[in-house]
Amino acid sequence: MKLTVVGCSGSFPSAESACSSYLVEADGFRLLLDMGNGALGELQRHCGLYDLDAIFLSHLHADHCIDMCGYFVARYYRHDGRCDPLPVYGPEGTEHRLTTAYADTPSASSMSEVFDFHTVKPSTFEIGPFLVHTERVAHPVEAYGIRIEHGGRTLTYSGDTGVSPALDDLARDADLFLCEAAFTHGKENIPDLHLNGREAGETAARAGARRLILTHIPPWTDPQINLTDARGVYAGPVGLAAPGTTYEI
Ligand SMILES: [Zn+2]
Ligand SMILES: [Zn+2]
Repeated sequence: MKLTVVGCSGSFPSAESACSSYLVEADGFRLLLDMGNGALGELQRHCGLYDLDAIFLSHLHADHCIDMCGYFVARYYRHDGRCDPLPVYGPEGTEHRLTTAYADTPSASSMSEVFDFHTVKPSTFEIGPFLVHTERVAHPVEAYGIRIEHGGRTLTYSGDTGVSPALDDLARDADLFLCEAAFTHGKENIPDLHLNGREAGETAARAGARRLILTHIPPWTDPQINLTDARGVYAGPVGLAAPGTTYEI
């Protein structure tokens, strides 16, 4: 598997990065995890506008899904003809949420003409060549973490979450654990909203993950503090997500 960080800024974009979006590729199949603010532009640095094979939306907060509105335009009004429906996996209500955010789609079902919506529940299923496992994580809205397996290797993405036993299970023995660390230890502590660097590290340690990449750090947070906090509790390699970075898993 190849992972490309399209955008990794938490909650709102920074001058350097779009919001959450990650491209996962294997066997020529391209799966995009989330499409937050600014991600659609950045995505075009890494693959063609129409080269995605599936999209997974971890939850419906704007910083994870709002560029789907722009992507609707690109697919619906394509000069060479309307695109076929692209599989989109998201929580209950994804189509309604995106249709409402867009505000004036030609009809209430226009999104479905270019997106094939699948409602995510905690389960195990296949997306192209990937075996994926989804679990509810701890966030104010219905939110999912995802474990992606291919060729004997595993990538886990936390989505947005506070401390969660389900996340521990998803990250069990993962080769790469892409984990949010939006909060700073000792500064912010709101249960069931976000992890801090220390909690991300503790989760990776409990799960036995082999590598930890911290992501979803907002522009107002010093990422070096979260990196140091994670390293203090997790012995494996830890890094910070950065736009354009790729990982072979
Ligand atoms: Zn978020
Ligand atoms: Zn969120």
